[in-house]
Amino acid sequence: MTGVEQTADVVVAGAGYAGLRAARDLAAAGLDVVVLEARDRVGGRVFTEVTGSGAVVDQGGQWIGPTQDRLQALADECGVTRFPTWVEGSNLEVRSGGLHPFTGLVPTSDPDGSADTVATLLDLDLLAQEVSPSSPWDHPDAGFLDSITLAEWVATAADTDVARSLVATATLAVFGCGPDELSLLYVLGYAHGGGSMSSLIRTSGGAQERRFTGGAQQMAVWLAEGLGDRVVLDAPVVGVAHGPSGVTVTADRAGADGVRAPWRVDARRLVVAMPPAVHGRIAFDPPLPGARDQLAQRAPMGSVTKVHAVYDRPFWRDAGLSGQIVADTGLLRATFDDSPEDGSHGVLMGFIAGPADRLSESAGPDGRRGACLEELARAFGPEAAGPVEFTEQRWSAEPFTRGGPVACLGPGVLTGCGPSLRRPVGPIHWAGTETASAWSGYIEGALESGERVATEVAAALGAGAAAPGGR
Ligand SMILES: Cc1cc2nc3c(=O)[nH]c(=O)nc-3n(C[C@H](O)[C@H](O)[C@H](O)COP(=O)(O)OP(=O)(O)OC[C@H]3O[C@@H](n4cnc5c(N)ncnc54)[C@H](O)[C@@H]3O)c2cc1C
Repeated sequence: MTGVEQTADVVVAGAGYAGLRAARDLAAAGLDVVVLEARDRVGGRVFTEVTGSGAVVDQGGQWIGPTQDRLQALADECGVTRFPTWVEGSNLEVRSGGLHPFTGLVPTSDPDGSADTVATLLDLDLLAQEVSPSSPWDHPDAGFLDSITLAEWVATAADTDVARSLVATATLAVFGCGPDELSLLYVLGYAHGGGSMSSLIRTSGGAQERRFTGGAQQMAVWLAEGLGDRVVLDAPVVGVAHGPSGVTVTADRAGADGVRAPWRVDARRLVVAMPPAVHGRIAFDPPLPGARDQLAQRAPMGSVTKVHAVYDRPFWRDAGLSGQIVADTGLLRATFDDSPEDGSHGVLMGFIAGPADRLSESAGPDGRRGACLEELARAFGPEAAGPVEFTEQRWSAEPFTRGGPVACLGPGVLTGCGPSLRRPVGPIHWAGTETASAWSGYIEGALESGERVATEVAAALGAGAAAPGGR
């Protein structure tokens, strides 16, 4: 074919954990793989940075919890150790303008609100157990469960405003959007995939249990090193021509002289390893089937900005505080102590999520910094207003992610478009955490999807088993 610069068995578009895991397994099955990555780094939504003051901060995904076995095995394989998230001391609840210390699993000091929150979460968890995480649309009541939002369900399931508000805060932290933006069916399948909603929001014993010494991106870098020059950075896929015999993938690749030019790779199969809203920007020829294109349009990313305030020391610990805030208002609805394991300096991390993230666009970086530091000082005292350094990562402004932490599906999407999530379109296969059966939205789900798609592609090409092999 004229104008084709390279040929391969399989092109993988996207070098996040899903794409890297798929590429590794496909290479192990003896297939010739090329990974085209839009950014000048691998890891996608997982991005570890060393800041100006020398702090190591995870700007995206950072935690690992129980039952995330693939991620644990991968970290062990490349020698990356984990340590418990700091939970010692009292947490702080910001409610109706007041500050209330609390300990334990339920983030409120209000006794009625606490009992109601436990009961509401239990109801949600019981309902979630009935919904298949891999095919929620198969539930006998899928039509109804997908016709209402989580907010509509909570409005009647909870008796107190405290419980409703806590569910909203949890939703903002987990999905990057409010409960009024999420289909109940989607939340139930998602929660079941991670065990339960309770395990998604827990620190000890839950999804926020541990962090990686040196950051969560290391395993992605290690996988990419193993793939060597099969990984091409700074090469966003812009077009895919496809037919029965394969694909021609066009990337906008920067040459050695920095000049960008179309780079075409002919392959028998393509793995698209990115969220639906992101692949919606690629031009497919012929166009994707309607349901798949609708999915790309109807699975918007959540809105999240992650901020880190770096201090000489974790001074809040002296006052018996854990660094965790759960707030019913403000920019920072949830914060955590993200100091290094040895406590050699202090780091408070917070999420600006959902509508607050979108509305704070006009405040600009200085406005957001000022507002966040004010909120931290209100909770932890005046010392919090003067960090050595303050960073923010606005995922919504990242063109190759478009928000986060995950896609937020509203009513009608799963029952209408769900079956097309993983269904191949001719030679095109779909990966990415949004396609996972368990731990969708998490690094673990990304790895699962990479493993699944590699098996699928290897079988289609009649290659050896795509078992995880040497790097
Ligand atoms: C703020 C935040 C906090 C999070 N916290 C956690 C956490 O603590 N624990 C956890 O497990 N998960 C967490 N997550 C979620 C986790 O990061 C993701 O689930 C996971 O990294 C997704 O991996 P992926 O490979 O499916 O997708 P991505 O990481 O999004 O990878 C997609 C890749 O495709 C690339 N790409 C995009 N467009 C193109 C194109 N046109 N051509 C080529 N390449 C392209 C992107 O640059 C990217 O590298 C968090 C996410 C965010 C944003």
